[in-house]
Amino acid sequence: MFYRKQINEIFKELNTTECGLTKLEAKSRLQQYGQNIIKEKKDAFLFKVIFHQFTDPLIYILLLAALITLLIGHYTDMGVILTIVGVNALFGFLQEYKAEKAMLSIKELAAPKATVIRESKEIKIDSKDIVIGDIVLLTAGNKVPADVRIFEVKDLEINESTFTGESLPSLKHSNPINLYNISIADQQNMAFMGTVVSHGAGKAIVVATGLNTELGKISSQVKETKKEKTPLQKRLDDFSKKIALLSISLAFLVFALGVILGDPIMEMVVFTLSVTVGIIPEGLLIVVTITMTIGIKRMADRNAIVRKLIAVETLGSCDYICTDKTGTLTENRMTVVKAYTNLKEFEFKCCGYKPDGGVLQNNLTLTIDEDLYKLLLCGVICNNSILFQENGEWKIDGDPTEGALLVSGAKFGIDIEEITFQYKEIDEIPFSSKKNYMATLNKKDNQGYIFAKGSPEQILEFSNNKNNEELLKVYTSMTDSGFRVLAFGMKIFSSFPQNFNFQNEATTNLEFLGFQAIMDPPREEVKEAILLTKQAGITTVMVTGDHKKTAIAIAKQIGIFEEGDLAVTGEEFETMEEKDLKQNIEKIKVFARVTPAQKYKIVETLKNLGHIVAVTGDGVNDAPALKKASIGIAMGKTGTDTAKEASDIILKDDNYETIFEAVKIGRIIFDNIQKVIFFLISTGLAFALIVITALLLKWPLPMLAIQVLWVNLVTNALQDVALAYEPGEENITRKPPINPNEKLINSMMLRRLIIVGIVMTVGSLYLFHYKLSNGADINYARSTALNTIVFFQFFNVLNSRSFEKSIFKINPFSNSFLFISIILSLSAQIAILHYKPLQFIFHTEALDSITWLQTVMMGLTVIIAIELDKFLVLKLSIKKEL
Ligand code: ADP
Ligand code: MG
Repeated sequence: MFYRKQINEIFKELNTTECGLTKLEAKSRLQQYGQNIIKEKKDAFLFKVIFHQFTDPLIYILLLAALITLLIGHYTDMGVILTIVGVNALFGFLQEYKAEKAMLSIKELAAPKATVIRESKEIKIDSKDIVIGDIVLLTAGNKVPADVRIFEVKDLEINESTFTGESLPSLKHSNPINLYNISIADQQNMAFMGTVVSHGAGKAIVVATGLNTELGKISSQVKETKKEKTPLQKRLDDFSKKIALLSISLAFLVFALGVILGDPIMEMVVFTLSVTVGIIPEGLLIVVTITMTIGIKRMADRNAIVRKLIAVETLGSCDYICTDKTGTLTENRMTVVKAYTNLKEFEFKCCGYKPDGGVLQNNLTLTIDEDLYKLLLCGVICNNSILFQENGEWKIDGDPTEGALLVSGAKFGIDIEEITFQYKEIDEIPFSSKKNYMATLNKKDNQGYIFAKGSPEQILEFSNNKNNEELLKVYTSMTDSGFRVLAFGMKIFSSFPQNFNFQNEATTNLEFLGFQAIMDPPREEVKEAILLTKQAGITTVMVTGDHKKTAIAIAKQIGIFEEGDLAVTGEEFETMEEKDLKQNIEKIKVFARVTPAQKYKIVETLKNLGHIVAVTGDGVNDAPALKKASIGIAMGKTGTDTAKEASDIILKDDNYETIFEAVKIGRIIFDNIQKVIFFLISTGLAFALIVITALLLKWPLPMLAIQVLWVNLVTNALQDVALAYEPGEENITRKPPINPNEKLINSMMLRRLIIVGIVMTVGSLYLFHYKLSNGADINYARSTALNTIVFFQFFNVLNSRSFEKSIFKINPFSNSFLFISIILSLSAQIAILHYKPLQFIFHTEALDSITWLQTVMMGLTVIIAIELDKFLVLKLSIKKEL
């Protein structure tokens, strides 16, 4: 019952201090007590993946077919059918297992971090490495990483709805509670793993980790959340049921035709069964799952961590990106380049965090200037970041904006450590993007000081300055060059004040100190990415808390903002007339000085207009906008846990370019799914056509049941999976976003299905008939037909690699999986034609070289036909463009 104890008691009991554990001690405790994780059950994992292979209605039909062949004693057929099911399941299993494994490691990538104090230093570590006795910092927007007893609070509020169901946050304090057996909700000096800090800050000591936490104790009761299917997956489930129905109808037709035309019933039963197997695209659902997971893996490799599967398909349809500015479009490597105080302007040498380069005025190095000193001092004291040297390189920890202010102070000669020691911080109003300022209350030699910094609008409002006009002019000229401008103010109390309202004092009658202009250059690669996004039919808009002019300047540099575009502030946006808004919203490329609530409204408005909107965010207050977005994207580096939790995707590198890469992969996934569908359906359809035509012509069956099964095995088992690995076409980003209602089989695919069906039917039946009429025996003619169909299929996979591009323009080795699978299948095909024992099973005969040539040449006609169609489509689209 840690809530009853005095803090000192706990420190003693857990053998730790306010300075934290030593790294060595932490390591040994980690080894002794284990990681701070709540293990997910793993044993069910393997079974689940195996079981999943048999949950497809198409597979049921195959199993039923196997059962019937067993009942009527056709054991070889049964064997082949079961092999097909087995191979399908095996590949499905292997791929899915690999994919699930990858997903697990992707989850790992998104693992939570926590800030702890060890050896008196604040460091960020993986939450799983936290041990009992660690001192953790609790900050707004982040999760509580373990069960902790709080010993320092600053307006600390924690949302404990996970435990209590209460959605209002509970206010915390650090005093002992002299009661017994109180509920979690009443333990106001404790915080629990999995709850979220919604406001303020605090320090706490870890008292329980992993399974010993309250969350760990109830986690066995928490049911695993069921994997929700995405709209596309639901559509595919539906689609696959329809296909099952269609296959069965076609099979019945075959059966009826055969029986009516006088074929023996028993033979027709077996034959019909195998035709059904041939028509059914049994790999469909598995391959679609695989396609998606391959896509997710590719995204992870590109630094986009998918949290919700639905994002994968929504991305392909995304046509609007609302992005943050700082860190996403810019480098977030801030440097103060100018300071302005009391009618004087100073320049700093650029760049980086190295604290030299001095202060220049008219190219003279200035050593002492009282006004400048106060301005820079304010920036150093009203600051939560740290400047340090590591391996000879200067780095900052914390908010880069604040880091820049430390550097500017250090460049002037301010000793940061000395100063922060002298001016002891008593209280703080933390920065938030809602308020746009920060203030601290400090004490030095019993004098009181308030230091405030923030957006010039705010600080000027708080100060008692007379010549605001002049100042605004300076401010405007700085923002015009794209600088991020902060203003500074202070207040001195000759004796440290008692009983006063810090919030009130910090926002009235400040002495205005001046401005610092910060340069944050746009990211190198963003300009190119913006251009590409534009070509891909996607509009990018900047939504920022920064000043409008600064935002426009940066937006212009990277190509978001062009002649004729509009920029509005959050306030202007809110007061716009409904009609004006509807007319102009698509012209607005910059939203500046936006509060989180306004951001939500922007997203809502765009969505109501039918856009599929991707939105980035990092702060606590961004969560509603991220949830509202079609695709919520959280920043991996600077994002809070709240933002991450509300998001669909996490950007590991906070980089805009990564969003574009993810969109690209989203499109590839849908494209590949369509390719797989086309290939599988065209195969099945051709089968049905061939058999029905032969029956109608009253020819002998061009293939035996077992041969039908063979073709299915050798052409479908691997190639469909291989198509899932298609790397994606270059022009994928030069097309408009995918219509969310795009059909799984569009009209172009339908036309090609028919073309392929006809070509394969005519081609294989022609050679079959040709051999028969030239005196070949029936087995030889069937072997010919078999080989023709197999080659048709091989070549049709190549057709399926692109709906637009000629296969002669596709690198045959760019999908090595496909290449290898064709080689393997080809070897198997040669074996059943030329290897005696197999000939016996499959009733085949060795083909002579002329026949080989004929069958391969015939197979090629399916390429010619589709190439012609591709060519005509291209011609037509060019004509349309002219
Ligand atoms: P952005 O969209 O560029 O990330 P922010 O919401 O971070 O904008 O900041 C909005 C404004 O608040 C900035 O233009 C700046 O004037 C001010 N500001 C930013 N960071 C701080 C800070 N740490 N302390 C005080 N004011 C800040
Ligand atoms: Mg920001």
